[in-house]
Amino acid sequence: MSNTNTSPKTFPTELAGDSTPMVRFQKVRKSYGALTVLDDLDLDVAAGEMVSIIGPSGSGKTTVLRMLMTLETINEGVIYVDGKPLTHMPKGGTLVPANERHLRSRRADIGMCFQHFNLFPHMTALENCMEGPVHVLGLSKAEARDRSEELLELVGMISKKDQHPSRLSGGQQQRVAIARALAMRPKVMLFDEVTSALDPEVIGEVTNVIRQLVSEHQLTMLMVTHQMGFARDISDRVCFFYGGKIEEQGTPAEIFGDPQRERTQQFLSAVR
Ligand code: ADP
Repeated sequence: MSNTNTSPKTFPTELAGDSTPMVRFQKVRKSYGALTVLDDLDLDVAAGEMVSIIGPSGSGKTTVLRMLMTLETINEGVIYVDGKPLTHMPKGGTLVPANERHLRSRRADIGMCFQHFNLFPHMTALENCMEGPVHVLGLSKAEARDRSEELLELVGMISKKDQHPSRLSGGQQQRVAIARALAMRPKVMLFDEVTSALDPEVIGEVTNVIRQLVSEHQLTMLMVTHQMGFARDISDRVCFFYGGKIEEQGTPAEIFGDPQRERTQQFLSAVR
């Protein structure tokens, strides 16, 4: 993967100390040609924190997640996960752009669930969950099965473990997709509009699983959502994006109850 970072020397090769965030975007710039999508973005997510990203279409929300999934190159700045550079690798006391091998070795730290769940259609729910642990992490089939069954139980899908995705509803498929991502024991979970392709009557079963993860598991999570009520209920912090920057951020009570910036106020009054 090529990379055009201009000044990686000014960034630390590793973050240390008790206050090290689980995720750090430091001065991250991302553009497509003349279009700047992320504009010197600084964003820290603490270990165990649930951060929701809201904002108008085109404001860069999905790009934040895609960069964490290493699906996009970075133009400037550095992204760190668990204190170590994700987009770069240390070399001779400085940082150089990460190569594909480095990126591959870091991908297991990031779990992701998308709008379209992309389960393997020829595999059962259980096999879908076991695939990564066996083939990427090298677990034995027995270990992967135990872990996957535990997670299918957690998302309420254990009774359907031998079904293929085509036999499951959208909400059920999305719950399997969440279990599959968790089976890799990621350090960070990303949720991108996980409910927007679902029928209204099954949205609740997926949001309830995420709610349960937030309340019972110390996972670091970043979620892009258009469901303001959901973001308000479950987030520790809400970031309102506008034009590739964080226009305003705060607790759900601050952002939804008393937004300070005019753009935030306008956005929230339009979507409510
Ligand atoms: P959001 O998730 O807030 O709707 P995105 O992060 O998806 O916004 O996109 C931000 C901007 O980047 C949009 O203007 C979008 O059109 C543009 N964009 C995203 N991906 C590409 C790409 N591969 N090539 C060119 N422009 C892109």
